[in-house]
Amino acid sequence: MTEPDRRRLLQTAAALMAVVGFDAHSGQWLTAPQAGATTLPLLEGQLLFDAASRQAVATDFGRAVSRVPVAVLRPGSVADIVKMVRFCRRFGLPVAARGQGHTMYGQSQVRDGLVIEMGSLARIHAIEADRAVVDAGVVWRDLLAATVAQGLTPPVLTDYIRLSVGGTLSVGGVNGTSYRQGTQIDNVLALQVVTGEGELLSCSPTERRSLFEAVLGGLGQCAIIVRATLKLQPAPAMARDFQMVYPTLDALMADFRVLLADGRFSYIEALMPALPTGGYVHVLQGVAFYDGTPPDNAALLAGLNFIPGTFTPTDLSYFAFCDRLEGLVAGLTASGRWTLPHPWLDMFVPDAAAEAFIASVQSQLGAVDLPDLPLIVYGFKRSRLTRPLFRTPASETFFLVDVLRTTDPPAVPHAVAQNRAFYDAAVAAGGRFYPISAVPMSRTDWRRHFQPEWGRLASAKQRHDPAGILTPGPGIFGG
Ligand SMILES: Cc1cc2nc3c(=O)[nH]c(=O)nc-3n(C[C@H](O)[C@H](O)[C@H](O)COP(=O)(O)OP(=O)(O)OC[C@H]3O[C@@H](n4cnc5c(N)ncnc54)[C@H](O)[C@@H]3O)c2cc1C
Repeated sequence: MTEPDRRRLLQTAAALMAVVGFDAHSGQWLTAPQAGATTLPLLEGQLLFDAASRQAVATDFGRAVSRVPVAVLRPGSVADIVKMVRFCRRFGLPVAARGQGHTMYGQSQVRDGLVIEMGSLARIHAIEADRAVVDAGVVWRDLLAATVAQGLTPPVLTDYIRLSVGGTLSVGGVNGTSYRQGTQIDNVLALQVVTGEGELLSCSPTERRSLFEAVLGGLGQCAIIVRATLKLQPAPAMARDFQMVYPTLDALMADFRVLLADGRFSYIEALMPALPTGGYVHVLQGVAFYDGTPPDNAALLAGLNFIPGTFTPTDLSYFAFCDRLEGLVAGLTASGRWTLPHPWLDMFVPDAAAEAFIASVQSQLGAVDLPDLPLIVYGFKRSRLTRPLFRTPASETFFLVDVLRTTDPPAVPHAVAQNRAFYDAAVAAGGRFYPISAVPMSRTDWRRHFQPEWGRLASAKQRHDPAGILTPGPGIFGG
């Protein structure tokens, strides 16, 4: 037996000394063997029942809601996940996977159930010229570091890259490259998943396609992703970053549409920090990736109506560009602000409603609501998107508006209620929400959100998780 194997067995034994089984009659976990009770499966990883481990996964980045699970699994293998999902399925105990816990409204939380910490399975299995095979617990930053070393990159990252592969594939995964390259879920070649029945299955566009499509952007409702085959492409060496300041929201949005149409930048987003004195600064960020010869600035800026002389382009390595939030997050962590509540809202709004929605949000919020991060707006082309559960407005061009609040704990209920009002206004205008957000949702809201794919999702749920144990946090099928 190797040292890591011996350690794992000892850890499992230690956990099992505390809890040895489950009594289906009383619904209680047992600390001593009892006739008629079911013993826990033998695991390679750890099953933890202590208060600190359970509390650590009872919250998320949003810190707006909290639900304490009864146990936490740190799997030592995919087989551990299969065994524990089967165990929970047998007793109707709810289960959810947790990547980095960076949603806003309890999406990965499970009251009185099992949370599976996917970070304990985080191996990069292979990097080839056009693909990588990774465990779902891998953090994108680690994958990027490994692929860039070989001159490769995933086509789409998120702006913050300390998020897990399984976590972002369960929601979508977008950034300023998405208008050209789609979302992260559009760039997945195959998955290995554990369904709510405890079956380990492979799926892809050509194998069990309906399961594949029910999992990508499917908020963990039908299966837990354990391994993913992700597209890779050549990585650029450098990024030239232009942060153009505009006099008004309307002027910025007009040029945003020009850039979405002609595709001259590799990456585009709008940053709108709130000023302490009132109002907002309107910045359009265009980034050109390049190798060798630097891009022609004049060609990139031709015809754009930003305020002249307000910025200097900066050059940085491609990895440094992708990792640019690291310093900001380190600063906010050091000052204690990163652990304050973040009841964020992310709404997709159709092209025709964009300015009115953004202006309305701006007029109702200000520096007190957005002290640390700007309003962020991304642009999209619907024709670049391929996955049915990633719900967006019907127009070809649409925008994602991110309201990235930081609040003190007593202000959370007001923020969540205001999010819901913004949500209602955007939905009335043909918008959809990005389901990482802090918005209270009824089952009727969820049904409307997933239309016209609700029927497909509901039948995939019925087929792959008939006991309804997986991922109750968002409340899509009740729970
Ligand atoms: C600072 C910050 C920056 C962000 N930037 C971006 C951005 O630029 N672009 C963007 O698209 N999003 C962004 N997000 C949102 C982020 O993509 C989502 O919150 C994502 O779910 C976080 O990944 P995670 O690993 O923390 O997942 P978690 O929060 O742990 O999980 C998210 C959901 O997926 C489920 N889940 C997790 N792992 C699995 C799995 N293996 N199988 C099945 N279900 C699973 C969970 O149960 C939960 O319902 C950001 C969030 C934060 C806090």
